Amino acid sequence: MIVLVLNCGSSSLKYQVLDMKSEKEFDLLAKGLVERIGEKMGALTHRVPGQDKHVVEMPIPDHTVGIKAVLELLVSKEHGVLESLSQIDAVGHRVAHGGEYFKGSAFVDAKAYEEIEKLCVLAPLHNPANLLGVKAVNELMPGTPNVTVFDTAFHQTVPDYAYTYAIPYEYYKKYAVRRYGFHGTSHKFVAARGAEFAGIDLENSRIITCHLGNGSSISAVKDGRCIDTSMGFTPQEGVPMGTRSGSIDTTIIPFLAAKENMTPAQMEKMLNKQSGLLGISGVSSDCRDIEEAAKAGNPRASLALNILCYSIKKYIGAYSAALGGVDLIVFTGGIGENSAPTRRDSCDGLEYLGIKIDNEINDATHGKDTIISTPDSKVKVCVIATNEELMIARDTMNIVKNLKK
Ligand code: ADP
Repeated sequence: MIVLVLNCGSSSLKYQVLDMKSEKEFDLLAKGLVERIGEKMGALTHRVPGQDKHVVEMPIPDHTVGIKAVLELLVSKEHGVLESLSQIDAVGHRVAHGGEYFKGSAFVDAKAYEEIEKLCVLAPLHNPANLLGVKAVNELMPGTPNVTVFDTAFHQTVPDYAYTYAIPYEYYKKYAVRRYGFHGTSHKFVAARGAEFAGIDLENSRIITCHLGNGSSISAVKDGRCIDTSMGFTPQEGVPMGTRSGSIDTTIIPFLAAKENMTPAQMEKMLNKQSGLLGISGVSSDCRDIEEAAKAGNPRASLALNILCYSIKKYIGAYSAALGGVDLIVFTGGIGENSAPTRRDSCDGLEYLGIKIDNEINDATHGKDTIISTPDSKVKVCVIATNEELMIARDTMNIVKNLKK
């Protein structure tokens, strides 16, 4: 089954075309990125395995034009990978927010579309862009089934005592203010792959998954189901990220608003775009730049990394308690897959929990599925390369196959 995976952001979209032979066997036919949608000049970068990348610069006023350009490339003589668009059996869309309605991936019928639209209030920057992707497919490839895969769905098994904030209960009832969690597709993928890789039975396991990228979140997964996660009502909560503060004392907000005369919009920008690793280091939001600056002796860069690792360590401790012990810790995402110092320092001092890292193997591990704990470590620790697109394609394939039954 050929599946087109679309991940539409507000001004960009990523795509992959996968030939799914089974859940585990697949060929990546093409992938790419459309950037600067809505700006004067946009760009489409198209990659076919084994060929040079192909870049097209053109104005891309909206998502429909972007998707149309991608579809044209997919069947073009020179850069195409398909004879005709009718070969695409289904389209899988990454959708940011599934609220409490979507507990798993869904075939997009009129009712599902309406529910995703209702959830735009909870994800005003993301869900509308995701729906533009569905609309564009309906317009350009009518009759092709759309499946939506939600960032929040994997976390819908989190119990009420872990998702309810201790603020007046009426705000949950009135406005659905609660913890939702994000990166669910990645947490689900790496928990399952990590268990398989480490020879642990997923259905009888206690796993902590650390997705560390520009945005970062950590989840506690018991017997394959999520029981807690660090992101909350929005992706703002949890560990410090590239430019997001992560959790802070909420009273800092009115205090600084008064001192600095900041509007709510300015405050949100400060917490979302100017905080985290960037805000502390003053160097960059990019972990590589900060590691370099720290090595060169920049104390604020070192402080930023220390804060990040200390925060990850605290979540590992907290989630070990929540899970009643831990069998496996998985690191993933750009930082989790590539930064050996972050993995080492986050686990440093946790020997009493049974966590022992093999520093030599850890130092040599970049982006490849690897066990980085020592053979005598009670808790296995591994690096797993996340693959959200594959997960989306799998869910899409399974849902569409079931529709046909
Ligand atoms: P996103 O959350 O946008 O998908 P990624 O998962 O790609 O982001 O993660 C981006 C982060 O990964 C950046 O902070 C980047 O510096 C970091 N990263 C990538 N490669 C390395 C590396 N070799 N060492 C340290 N950090 C790295």
